[in-house]
Amino acid sequence: MRINKEVAAPRIYIEKVICNCCGEEIRKDKFGYFDDYISIEKTWGYGSEFDGETHVIDICSHCYGEWLLKFANSPSFHKEDAELLEC
Ligand SMILES: [Zn+2]
Repeated sequence: MRINKEVAAPRIYIEKVICNCCGEEIRKDKFGYFDDYISIEKTWGYGSEFDGETHVIDICSHCYGEWLLKFANSPSFHKEDAELLEC
């Protein structure tokens, strides 16, 4: 037999998001939703250039667009519920 007790677990809300590239704050609309941005979390493998480090970055859409220009190959583009498109 188990007797449960309801407890309030601490909750974490994202209050601000700062673009790692330009340092600007990602804006929130009047409903509290952030403008779109890209968030990447990567734990590097042991023996790699960053040997076991976990990097977390948030990039605003403007900086992401600038970053893409430096890529030798474009990323794959697709929309939800659509097949991959050739660029
Ligand atoms: Zn930015």
